Amino acid sequence: MKRALIHIDYTNDFVAENGALTCGQPGQTIHDEILRITKEFHHAKDFIAFTIDCHQLNDPLHPETALFPPHNIKGSSGRQLFGQLEAFYQQIKDQDHVYYTDKTRYSAFAGTDLDLQLRSRKIEELHLIGVCTDICVLHTAVEAYNLGYKLVIHQNAVASFNPVGHQWALDHFKHTLGAEIR
Ligand code: ZN
Repeated sequence: MKRALIHIDYTNDFVAENGALTCGQPGQTIHDEILRITKEFHHAKDFIAFTIDCHQLNDPLHPETALFPPHNIKGSSGRQLFGQLEAFYQQIKDQDHVYYTDKTRYSAFAGTDLDLQLRSRKIEELHLIGVCTDICVLHTAVEAYNLGYKLVIHQNAVASFNPVGHQWALDHFKHTLGAEIR
């Protein structure tokens, strides 16, 4: 079964200590595992999709404007990938198996061509990593399930500011979406 790595929102704003909407220590703790898994997929030449939240400042039409402080603003350093991931992404970004898309909703499938990118490569199994477990990872997993993808969630490479939500989401992935928790 062909597999792909789906990277979700591992950016400075969501992870760094001074990030605009940071999940803090839990997000920083998974840095090495995030990098390790990304390198493993890269060396196998398996498809890697970076799906990264993107906003305009104070966008009056966006529902998140009323819910959260400004974050992941297009062109800002807050929207760059966190830690060593940014440099590694810059190294590999021009290769055929590496793909990057802006996303504007929690799910990586909402308003993007991710599903087409995956189907054209006959990919059936998605490995999800990033933040937050119970928001963007969750919404992406639910949509992937509805689209018929097999799911693998790397529990040491997802994190949330909310430990209860994190654990609830892991249980939901396993028992409701049939995901493998690795
Ligand atoms: Zn957002």
